[in-house]
Amino acid sequence: MSDGDRNINPALRNRKRIHPENTSTTEYVDKILAGDRVFLSRAITLIESRQAKHQEQAQKILTACLPHSGRGIRIGITGTPGVGKSTFIEALGQVFLAEGKKVGVLAIDPSSPISKGSILGDKTRMATLSREERAFIRPSPAGTSLGGVAQKTRETIILCEAAGFDHILLETVGVGQSEVAVHAMTDLFLLLLLPGAGDDLQGIKRGIVEMADLLVINKAEAEREKLARDTQRAYRNALHLYPPKDSGWTPKVAACSALHNVGIPEVRALIQAYFTQVRQHNYLVPKRREQALFWFQETIEQQLQQLFQQDASVQKVLPDIRQQVTDEALTPFQGARQLLDIFLQKKDRVE
Ligand code: GDP
Repeated sequence: MSDGDRNINPALRNRKRIHPENTSTTEYVDKILAGDRVFLSRAITLIESRQAKHQEQAQKILTACLPHSGRGIRIGITGTPGVGKSTFIEALGQVFLAEGKKVGVLAIDPSSPISKGSILGDKTRMATLSREERAFIRPSPAGTSLGGVAQKTRETIILCEAAGFDHILLETVGVGQSEVAVHAMTDLFLLLLLPGAGDDLQGIKRGIVEMADLLVINKAEAEREKLARDTQRAYRNALHLYPPKDSGWTPKVAACSALHNVGIPEVRALIQAYFTQVRQHNYLVPKRREQALFWFQETIEQQLQQLFQQDASVQKVLPDIRQQVTDEALTPFQGARQLLDIFLQKKDRVE
């Protein structure tokens, strides 16, 4: 897929193609730091590329950009399909832009490849925001493994921040494991809800409400307004049952109509209140360090597991050892140990 295809921002489409082979890392970095969206976009394409030479250059660019990232705020936004995430991001994004901020909108959706209409893939969405110079919108990277998609998204955040897009809105669909990943790479986690229905009816998984710092009942207008207020009250009461957060922040429940742009400034004010509070509590820096260590650990575990599973000698003996464990000829621990020994011995021989 060409870089032009991956861009939602109309201004970035049909631009002169930048050839990665002809572009030096220094040029990428300079342009990104100067806020050039074309080079930013191209560098993200390098991050998403499977080609080794692209990956190598992407990592160099990342290393250079890392010290220039992390100064903004990162907001995770989740909710079931149709709740109004895109509409809400469009409305909230406008508020940030009006404040003079630069907004980056990214997505995590590992389940559906980009060509099959994953979130943000539909270019007609966020039409207003996408025309703004100070907004950068990028669909979810393609991929079926959440680990891979999460890594690319985290790296993309770094590049966006280095390019000055310091208000990152990271969207995910409210199904699957992706909320956990988004929660682990954002400062504030916002859950969008519909008026009326309970968690189970809205398809919200257990634990998601507990993760949220802000709950926002969307579509709170016209005949749904009273219902939305009732829902707001019900969630406020329910939140009392959850243990207090490490941030010292008590989750808040707001109501808005993203479509009619009602209640968005109030949501903005709550976001501000959250950041004021967590900064006062010195919570943000340790939280991000913890997140960095979380991804460090996750990546090691994933890659080790992959190495192990793809190892030819492991593959060869696996069915036999599995059978022995099933037949109780070996305990599960003995079986696992034997397999690990085979894996590690081979590694020793190589070295
Ligand atoms: P997403 O799937 O969560 O991203 O939801 P969208 O933003 O695509 O919105 C789904 C539908 O709900 C669209 O038809 C929107 O126009 C509509 N919608 C979004 N926000 C509101 C709202 O505040 N009020 C009403 N009435 N409709 C809304």
